[in-house]
Amino acid sequence: MALCQSLEALISMRYPETKLPKVTTTIFTEMSQLAADHNAINLSQGYPDFEGPKALLDRVTYYLNSGYNQYAPMAGVPALRKVIADKIARLYDRHVNVDTEVTITSGATEALFAAIAAVVTAGDEVIVFDPAYDSYEPAIEMNGGRAVHLPLNAPHFSIDWSAVRQAITTRTRMIILNSPHNPTGAVLSSDDLDQLTELVTGTDLILLSDEVYEHICFDGAQHQSLLRRPELAVRSFVVSSFGKSLHTTGWKVGYCVAPPPLSCEFRKVHQYLTFCTVHPIQLALADFLNGCPEFCLELPLFYQQKRDYFCELMTSSQFTLKPSSGTYFQLLDYSALGQHQNKTDVEFSRWLTTEAGVAAIPISVFYENSPDQKLIRMCFAKSNDTLQEACGKLCQI
Ligand code: PMP
Ligand code: GLN
Repeated sequence: MALCQSLEALISMRYPETKLPKVTTTIFTEMSQLAADHNAINLSQGYPDFEGPKALLDRVTYYLNSGYNQYAPMAGVPALRKVIADKIARLYDRHVNVDTEVTITSGATEALFAAIAAVVTAGDEVIVFDPAYDSYEPAIEMNGGRAVHLPLNAPHFSIDWSAVRQAITTRTRMIILNSPHNPTGAVLSSDDLDQLTELVTGTDLILLSDEVYEHICFDGAQHQSLLRRPELAVRSFVVSSFGKSLHTTGWKVGYCVAPPPLSCEFRKVHQYLTFCTVHPIQLALADFLNGCPEFCLELPLFYQQKRDYFCELMTSSQFTLKPSSGTYFQLLDYSALGQHQNKTDVEFSRWLTTEAGVAAIPISVFYENSPDQKLIRMCFAKSNDTLQEACGKLCQI
């Protein structure tokens, strides 16, 4: 009897309203699943189909087998934080304090969430640029904030700084930047940083700079980290990820660099979100990067060659390729493919996966209000054999 009553109570119970009504399964999961179901070549979700460096894998094995399988320090392994601080000094000419300004996180995703949770409160507005990486808005909304979407200007997907100026209100707490930019491959210029500096100087605006592709800039361009500018660094959370730089996206190790008052608040969130990040991998990363600091410096050429190979293989296709200045993504315009002109990018991406055997990501899902463009994103972080096979199929359409 008691059991029946409790079952009844359970059945009549009302579950809470969703906190994230707009959220569904991500496009990355959806397209990777569709690719697997149809045995398509997966150029959708961004990850390499090759391994990270052997010396790094060996160090992970070493630490796994040497008793480093308990909690790491909350802020991250000191040796790894020092490697990061040294790199920032070398590349961006900024000296950050290893103890108070660098925190290791479980991927950039955790760092982005923790930074937003640390400073965004109910009613705050956060400016994001569309097409925007998918994790920003849910994190803003879970913390009671509202994303204010501003479109990047085609064809170069640049920021319209006068539109940013106009969008700032007394409620604006944060601006989120992402360079090199996923999904477009656009990069911020030094002039953009000038404009940003002018915009924020004298305000209390916080910046969150997603720089996970910091080491993947092409054609000799320098990555414009916000850490290069003292006026920006003083108000910024700068986030990066070892997944992108070391071909190890499945390890989910990233970091956040921020001045002490921001790092202090960041760590309050981090310590109750995950407390700490996977220990043996942090130790291995520190050893590898100490022994091989040039690895990241070789990435631009490595990925530029992949981009150029992909573009060359596509020259006989009917797609138009948009210039990619960074990341390992390439946008393709399919409006010249007569028989597919009327398909939305979501429809076309599904068709491409199920019928042509190559999976891609539609761009419209990263917009609040998508313009009428026929663009899909492909990932060229693949072996040359994979690229050849995929492009062979794409050129036949
Ligand atoms: N930001 C951007 C722009 C990304 O492309 C990604 C990766 N996929 C992330 C953040 C998340 O990185 P991580 O896998 O380290 O959580
Ligand atoms: N950042 C990766 C991409 O853009 C995907 C990460 C994920 O699947 N959440 O493809």
